[in-house]
Amino acid sequence: MRSTEPFNLTYLLIDKIAAIPYHYTMFTKLTTRTKRLYVQIAATVLTFSYFLAPVLKYIPCPTLTCYACPLAVFACPIGTLQHFVIIGVFPFFLLGILFLIGTLVGRWTCGYLCPFGLFQDLLAKIRRKKFVPPSWLGWGRYVSLFGVAIIIPALTHEPWFSKLCPVGTIEAGIPYVTAALLKIKLPGQPFDALGMVGNLFWLKIFLLALTIGAAIYIKRPFCRFICPLGGIFGMFSRVSLLQIKVDQYQTSDKVDCKKLCPVDMDITKNPISADCIRCLQCTNCPGVKLENPNKIINSTKASVKTILPRKH
Ligand code: SF4
Ligand code: SF4
Repeated sequence: MRSTEPFNLTYLLIDKIAAIPYHYTMFTKLTTRTKRLYVQIAATVLTFSYFLAPVLKYIPCPTLTCYACPLAVFACPIGTLQHFVIIGVFPFFLLGILFLIGTLVGRWTCGYLCPFGLFQDLLAKIRRKKFVPPSWLGWGRYVSLFGVAIIIPALTHEPWFSKLCPVGTIEAGIPYVTAALLKIKLPGQPFDALGMVGNLFWLKIFLLALTIGAAIYIKRPFCRFICPLGGIFGMFSRVSLLQIKVDQYQTSDKVDCKKLCPVDMDITKNPISADCIRCLQCTNCPGVKLENPNKIINSTKASVKTILPRKH
């Protein structure tokens, strides 16, 4: 019986590998919404795969995920940014990674990889009728980024965005305090977790409750109006290789693209908007499609050629 085990295992492995093209074909046949949901779930599992933490904990996460979370694999990019602001060192590595992600895919990570984005998408399903707030509230992302995550930490030497962040509350604050109450030990748990329960803790709980409540009535409010990482990646919307092309001659009034959009955007009005999280759901509307990245690279090369001085 024992001698057949290795063979069975190898056979099983070969079988699984051979089935990959089939599963891939089946995956490509799914709707954009279902494909996105699967990718979001897989990304959430990976983000909280604690067993990978020793390898990846020093790499900034491409999404807003709390470093202090007992299951977290990556470092929080905004927490890291505040750390470098406080110690007065320029964060070359962090900005290099964010620049690379932004240039390649812009806010696609918000649409497909962020666990807190998925959480808000799920909350949005609770209530069908939604309130549509004014788009200027999107400037709130830059207030969070430059005000709460850069200027205030530089002046106070405290990471104020992390101290108030609802993502930190749900991923680290609540689990640690609950575990301490139940007398369970979590990895990375502070020695006196119950000592954390004070005015600041209750303020964080209030902000989290506000975010959850808002996400039931408004599509992705935290991503649209608060998240500094969304603000950073949004700055790349104009230049990233992942672009959506709108053919105004083919668009139709019969399909309401805005309704499909998880952030209430009408892509036909502004395909390079920093609000777009590149979820690609609107590519199901007539006249809206994903631009071929090769075309973008070639057009950039062409425009570089035109500005190069001529050889005499
Ligand atoms: S904007 Fe939303 S989806 Fe993007 S990183 Fe922030 S919380 Fe995540
Ligand atoms: S505009 Fe399109 S790609 Fe952008 S977030 Fe809305 S549905 Fe997704």
